[in-house]
Amino acid sequence: MKYIGAHVSASGGVENAPVNAHDIGATAFALFTKNQRQWKSSPLTKTSIKLFRDNCEKFDFKPFQILPHDSYLINLGHPEQEGLDKSREAFLDEMQRCEQLGLDRLNFHPGGSLGKITDEECLLRIAESVNITLDKTKGVIAVIENTAGQGSNLGFKFEQLRFIIDHVEDKSRVGICIDTCHSFAAGYDISTKNGFASAFSHFDEVVGLQFLKGMHINDSKKGLGSRVDRHESLGKGALGIEVFKWLIHDARFDNIPLILETPDESIWKEEIQLLYSFY
Ligand SMILES: [Zn+2]
Ligand SMILES: [Zn+2]
Repeated sequence: MKYIGAHVSASGGVENAPVNAHDIGATAFALFTKNQRQWKSSPLTKTSIKLFRDNCEKFDFKPFQILPHDSYLINLGHPEQEGLDKSREAFLDEMQRCEQLGLDRLNFHPGGSLGKITDEECLLRIAESVNITLDKTKGVIAVIENTAGQGSNLGFKFEQLRFIIDHVEDKSRVGICIDTCHSFAAGYDISTKNGFASAFSHFDEVVGLQFLKGMHINDSKKGLGSRVDRHESLGKGALGIEVFKWLIHDARFDNIPLILETPDESIWKEEIQLLYSFY
């Protein structure tokens, strides 16, 4: 079964996210559980938590159909102690919010060296950050997103994702989210049928498909290997529409949240319908 949705607004409270998802015909959704551009937000209220759970039940969203996303400010591989501590503290808060909401996974961007430490040192810091956080929480999987490799951001190569997983102690609580736009921008040519097949068999060899806990379904404004992270609406970018047909036809992507982060939210409903029409 394919579960398709979008990164919907949680403005006015997390409890609105499942309602917004249902309104666009989604069977999956992503959300921020706090303001993604601020370090601190007030704790989730009991009422908000209860309403979130009630609304998920009402509209039939199970935890495996929901992929919360952490704040953009967090850098779990930060080269400096102060930034690293701040990031780890904020990440723990994000994981605890997921626990409170009864969610089973949290999507995060691995982080970057800011050019101040080696890539390997940075990847080790990221894994250490995950270990520290998993020790203090229960039941939530830390889902690493592959990146476009913009600036000093790591996690654009499958080998880097594998390296992080190798250094995470509890392998049952680490996963991967593959973003189609990021993969293409990072140099994996999934826009052709052969390229799509080889990228995902390479992913399976290097990382393992059993770690795949979600996907971001975006076209790309920029070209193959551009290392620039700019999403485009489906079929309107450099990837084209065919890749999304192959993806929907592929049983390897069953039973995980497939999330649109495309720029024009007024057409999310149509994009979801389009994806279902390929099924
Ligand atoms: Zn993404
Ligand atoms: Zn992106």
